Order: sequence, then structure tokens, then C-alpha cells
Amino acid sequence: MSLRVMSPAMLSAWSQTLVRAMSTQGGSGSKNIGFVGLGNMGANMASNLIKAGHKLHVYDISKPACDGLAAKGATVYAKTSELAKNSDFVITMLPNNAIVDASYDEMTADGVNKDTIFIDSSTISPELVKSLQKKISGKGARFIDAPVSGGVPGAEQATLTFMVGGTEAEYQAVKAVLECMGKRITHCGVYGMGQAAKLCNNMMLAISMIGVSEAMNLAVRQGLDANVFAEIINSSTGRCWASEIYNPVPGVCPTAPANRDYAGGFSTALITKDLGLASGVANSSNSPIPLGSLAHKVYQSLCEKGLGNKDFSVVYDLMKKEKFGI
Ligand code: NAD
Repeated sequence: MSLRVMSPAMLSAWSQTLVRAMSTQGGSGSKNIGFVGLGNMGANMASNLIKAGHKLHVYDISKPACDGLAAKGATVYAKTSELAKNSDFVITMLPNNAIVDASYDEMTADGVNKDTIFIDSSTISPELVKSLQKKISGKGARFIDAPVSGGVPGAEQATLTFMVGGTEAEYQAVKAVLECMGKRITHCGVYGMGQAAKLCNNMMLAISMIGVSEAMNLAVRQGLDANVFAEIINSSTGRCWASEIYNPVPGVCPTAPANRDYAGGFSTALITKDLGLASGVANSSNSPIPLGSLAHKVYQSLCEKGLGNKDFSVVYDLMKKEKFGI
């Protein structure tokens, strides 16, 4: 068909297909991938997709975050609706429910390509996942949840665990892309089940970070050397990610945020949000979470002290300053 007999809608669809075909690099495995949210996690994840040979189309409200990815070869967009139209896959890595919801509204307002798969890797509620899946499938495209675990080190080293909620066909369709950013890509079940797994994992993480902080502080106050005690835990039954990879005591794990005054990493505000989400699903499923609720209060008090932007391992600092019974 000649260009002259195409309707404006057909012409627009044809030009988008052409842009996608022209910007696809290298071999047949190379895809156009949209990435929205280039923070502590997203910037590293998007960089790993570029390293794997994919063409990245990126957006963040922060200009420095966009500049960082542009320097690595990504194309920066002013509008996510344009970004989505040029992408085979769109990955969102945003702070919370409200921002994710608003971002999808904006991104899909002018319609979607029906062959685009939207993947949300933020930590949000399973309810929002189900509502977004309905909205986006209603517009003709696909949407799945694929939250991650592994923190900033996992995002940097492409060793994240992805928890996927969607159909088996959707899981198979996204697996190769997620493998560029992670080591374990697990199909957890239907829409929202990725988030269900993620919220339970993060509740445990929140509790175990407090446990490690209490035990490290107690050991140090009794006169034990922090490194000696960490070695003991990490070869004993108290061992966990918070003690071994992300120890909250400065000087124990060289790459942990504790060594840089708890900057970067996983913010206290975000783990507090996750505990709020866990509390919501605990309520709706009538599940008791006494320690989860207590952990929520502890992290909330850190936020109230102005520490919301610090890594959540800053809870050790609080233990260090407090006295028994206070
Ligand atoms: P972050 O705050 O470092 O990054 C969020 C990014 O989103 C920022 O760059 C911000 O500018 C951008 N942003 C905010 N509003 C936006 C909007 N409307 N449109 C586009 N960009 C916008 O957060 P993070 O630590 O990277 O975490 C992102 C998500 O991943 C959260 O849901 C978090 O719970 C989850 N998560 C974080 C970790 C971690 O260790 N940091 C681990 C697993 C999951």
C-alpha cells in the first residue's frame, strides 16, 4: 500500500514500527525497551539491559538520572506515552502505588501498542497490580508484575531475583529480558502473586535487619569486636542477608551503606512503605503479623526522626544511641 492511501492512524502505527525496526541493534535478540524510574535500582537495571545489547528508551522526572543513562547510550523521552509506543517491553521501577498508578495513566492515555508488554518491578500492592492489569489489557496490551529482591548490589551485578505474576505465556515472553538483570526469574502465579511474594520477603527483611542490629549492638556493648561477632553469626544459625551482605555496622561489609553514613541503598521510607503494604494484605487475609507490625513502628519512628532518605540499616544507629527500656 502506498503512503498516500494510508489513514493518519495507519501512518502513525507504520512510523512507530519503522522507528522500532530502525533502532533495534544487532541480532534478533535485541529489543526496544522502555524504562521508567532511574533511581538506585532502575539506573543499574537499565544499564544492564544496555550492556546486554538492548536499545533503551528512558524517562525519569530527575534530569541527572536521565543524563546518566543518556551517557550510556539510552534515548531520553519527555513523554512516557511516546516512550511506550517505541518499546517492545516497558519496565517501571517507581517509588509507590500512587506514582505507579499515575505513571501508567499518563503512559497509556493515548492508547498502547497491543504487542507491548508492560512490566512493573516496583514494590506496590497486589490490588493495584490487578487493577492495572485490567486497565491495560482493556486497552489491548499486556501488564504483569515482576518485583525484585537483591537490593542495589543485586541490581548492579545483575543478580536480582524476579517474582513474576502473570500467565505462563507472559512469563515465557519476559524471561529473557529479565535474565539480563537477574539470576533467578520465578513464576509465582497469577497477577499480583509476584507482589504477594515480595511483600512477605520484605517483611522478613525488615524484621531481620532489626534483629541483626540489636544483636550486633548487644555484642559490641559487651565488649565483643564487631567483625569477630559478624564472623560468628555468618557461620552460625543467626546468619542472614542483613548480617552477611548488608551488615548495619560500619566496617563489617565493605560495600554496605553503613560504610557511607547509610547513604544510597534501600531507603527507610521505602521499607516503611513495604511494611504498610504487608500490613494491608495481612488485614485482608486475617493473618497475624506481630513482629511485622512492630518493625513497621520502628521504621516509622526513624522516618519521623528525619531518616527516611537513609538506608534502612540506619536502624543500627538508633540502637547504638538508645538505652535499655527507653
Ligand atoms: P529511588 O527513590 O532511588 O528511585 C525512584 C526513581 O523514580 C527516582 O529516580 C525518581 O526520580 C523517579 N520518579 C519518581 N516519580 C517519578 C515519576 N512520576 N515518573 C518517573 N520517574 C519518577 O527508589 P529505588 O530504591 O530505586 O526503588 C524503586 C522501587 O523498587 C520501589 O518501589 C522500591 O520499593 C523497590 N525496591 C527497591 C530496592 C532497593 O534496595 N532500593 C530493592 C527492591 C525493590
